[in-house]
Amino acid sequence: MSKNHERIHIDEKNLCHLCVSELESIYAELKLTASELEILSMPRRVVTVHFPVRLSNGATKMFIGHRVQFNDARGPSKGGIRFHPDLKVDHVSDLAFLMSLKCAVVDIPFGGAKGGVVVNPKELSRSELELITRAYIREIADYIGPFKDIPAPDVYTDEKVMVWILDEYEHLTREHAPATVTGKPLELGGIRARTYSTSLGGIYVLEEAMKKEAMDKSGVRVAVQGFGNVGENAARILHEMGYKIIAVSDSRGGLINQTGLNIPDVIKHKNTEGRLEGFDTAESISNEDLLVSDCDVLVPAALSDQIDDRNADNIKAKIVLELANAPTTTEADILLFDRSVTVIPDVLANAGGVAGSYLEWIQNLNNDYWEHGRVLEKLKSIMISAYNAVYALCQEENSPMRKAAYKIAIRRILTAERLRGNL
Ligand code: GLU
Repeated sequence: MSKNHERIHIDEKNLCHLCVSELESIYAELKLTASELEILSMPRRVVTVHFPVRLSNGATKMFIGHRVQFNDARGPSKGGIRFHPDLKVDHVSDLAFLMSLKCAVVDIPFGGAKGGVVVNPKELSRSELELITRAYIREIADYIGPFKDIPAPDVYTDEKVMVWILDEYEHLTREHAPATVTGKPLELGGIRARTYSTSLGGIYVLEEAMKKEAMDKSGVRVAVQGFGNVGENAARILHEMGYKIIAVSDSRGGLINQTGLNIPDVIKHKNTEGRLEGFDTAESISNEDLLVSDCDVLVPAALSDQIDDRNADNIKAKIVLELANAPTTTEADILLFDRSVTVIPDVLANAGGVAGSYLEWIQNLNNDYWEHGRVLEKLKSIMISAYNAVYALCQEENSPMRKAAYKIAIRRILTAERLRGNL
């Protein structure tokens, strides 16, 4: 640990563990001062709320919700809201930090935030989830809004949840404010591309990376871990584009067929059966085995910490496209770089989600709705510019893409802080 680092006062409650460990590795290279590091090491605001909700069995239960706004020097805070039984405020904080970096990497005028409710949505009815969402929003309403902090979908939240957020917020403020939340249905100011902009944005970046590696899509075999919104759309779009998807998985397990899966049929099967298991023209594969399967491109699109120091050396893919948030640990990232595996980091690879949100937000603020083609064009240009900037720095410094992306993001955030007079 560096000397300057030791001098930093750290409030254990607010410390973002991930940011400190990630920053450490690039600290010396960026020559950050103690004040700069301190600004990047702590979230600006951590809101934790406890609220009662009466469930359908008549019992009242207290729920816990968090919203962490990490940094808003470049614009209003932005980031998703997740429902998860194991949600911890420290992890929310790490994810809020990643959102700050992500928005800066793709150079959109947002800070970073993340939030969620400690709940297992699989154990509750839709109407109970609605009551919980609305109660959570009532508790945090003072902290969100089109120019303060703009929520969006994340793990186990969707369009419907975004509508409840919007409606509750508008009831409280007594005015329409569609730019309060993104990922809405089309009819309430959403945009068609938002449901798959995370996946599509990642694919735009993947195609650029493949050009650099002289890889032709005709021979490329892809394995996708996770079949939620992001994983399913990635598999679907890649399949439509002519890639061979050899493996997919959900939380229960996966399917593999080295000759390629028919993704539209897999989606139909999942929709009727509620699971991937049992699809007839494929073998079963566990999530762990999928990660080390024989493929060219690996797309982790599920939860965090999937690729670690135990399996990194067995990854066979040439490119890892991180559509999930933080799927690779810091140690695994180094092992993969040493083996010349290109890891396209989450802050770049999955930034199409928040870039799509940005395009939705602009249209809501201006009350001016664009043609679908214009949205896609703009998304592509945001993603490719970001990729090119990160790639150029990697080449210059012979560094992993994550390090380069972080450097670009950190410089942009600190410039905004400096311009505001905070440094
Ligand atoms: N939850 C997404 C993410 O982690 C989207 C955030 C947003 O659109 O604000 O990037």
